[in-house]
Amino acid sequence: MTETQVLGNGTLVTGGPAPQVVPQGAVAWRGERILEAGPEASLMARHRGARYLDAGGGLILPGLVNTHHHFYSALARGLDPAVPMASFPEVLQRLWWRLDRALDPECIRICAQLSVAECIRQGCTTVFDHHASPSCIEGSLDWIAEAVEEGGISALLCYEISDRNGSAGAWAGLGENLRFLQARQQDRRIRGVVGLHASFTLRDETLAQVADRRPAGAGCHIHVAEDPVDVEASHDAFGLGPIERLDRFGLLDEQALLAHAIHLEDRHYERVAEAGSVLIHNPESNANNGVGRLDVARTAGFGCTIGLGTDGMSSSMLRSLRFAFLSHRGATGDPSAGFEGVPALLPANLTIARRFFDEPRLGELAEGAPADLIALDSPPPTPIKDDNAFAQLVYGASEAPVRHTIARGTVLLEDFCLTTLDPERLAARAREVSPALWDRFYALDWSTPFIG
Ligand SMILES: [Zn+2]
Repeated sequence: MTETQVLGNGTLVTGGPAPQVVPQGAVAWRGERILEAGPEASLMARHRGARYLDAGGGLILPGLVNTHHHFYSALARGLDPAVPMASFPEVLQRLWWRLDRALDPECIRICAQLSVAECIRQGCTTVFDHHASPSCIEGSLDWIAEAVEEGGISALLCYEISDRNGSAGAWAGLGENLRFLQARQQDRRIRGVVGLHASFTLRDETLAQVADRRPAGAGCHIHVAEDPVDVEASHDAFGLGPIERLDRFGLLDEQALLAHAIHLEDRHYERVAEAGSVLIHNPESNANNGVGRLDVARTAGFGCTIGLGTDGMSSSMLRSLRFAFLSHRGATGDPSAGFEGVPALLPANLTIARRFFDEPRLGELAEGAPADLIALDSPPPTPIKDDNAFAQLVYGASEAPVRHTIARGTVLLEDFCLTTLDPERLAARAREVSPALWDRFYALDWSTPFIG
């Protein structure tokens, strides 16, 4: 029989829309499920002999969820495109659309392993990845899934369909999504959705095929209005904006994941809320690209569900949360702003993940819920209560390292050390393959059209 394990000596913050704080709390689990969570003294009396993990007096939280990541960008660190990038379309054409074409199967595997290792180190136990590798599409989601399985977290994967490299690439991308969706339909930990790049690189015919061929209930994960170019180029080429096009093809539903959604009008946010689709805020990436920002408080006012992602910038959800908070204040010029909308982002990620994994209790630290939990190495120096847990996070705890990460009951990070992946070996291998990747990158032209 699987042994009972306990994570104790910490302050328990149960997460969810109404977080409960339990000083001197602990969580006990066996196999993949939590047995109980609560005050440590009484819990330990019922689980004598359990394997004990010490949280070091820090915070015990539900495992974090990242609803928008790009593993494939892991080997771009330090890469100088060596050409000017004065606008967002130039960032895409001269950096990302060159890098993704230069990826080979080994680079894809290493990128996924590096990213999964970093997710675990940052306490992320469920991640939504958006992948592109136009030179090797078929099988690419399997290589990523293998890395996710090796690491031990849960993931929602997709291939980014786009017409920017021609119709053959778009059909291959659709095929890869459909193949993977079918193969993983019954998988509890790794599932598929249909990935789409963005409206301005997708023909009507491609969207029609996606709508026609996707299995019932399969969602779409797409970039929307990250920059005004998506709206303007969609209108110019197809006569409609991104939201209207998704709506026209029946793709705007409760399973639709819309990353960014910055340059939309009020009526679009109202329509997104009505359809039950999800917006995903990526504040660090938006600042890095200088594309503006999603006004979370205002958008939430329309009734939209808003999640939080990192968009390949990092794998740290807590730093992304802190940046979301501070950038909201910076943009509004209001030193009291940020407590509307921003505290709901991480709980919303849990709600969103539940939709895709048939785990209605994901993120609860309570009996019967999946044993996805972390210990943050930040003993609270001041009183922590139900009503100030968010402030404790953004004003300090978000900067602390993660001590333990547990996903479905398996300890993936123990006392700051990864148990399933070897980061030194991975980085050494990555340093071996990245020069050749960069050589291929520099050999490619940087004038990819929006529609190939
Ligand atoms: Zn993205």
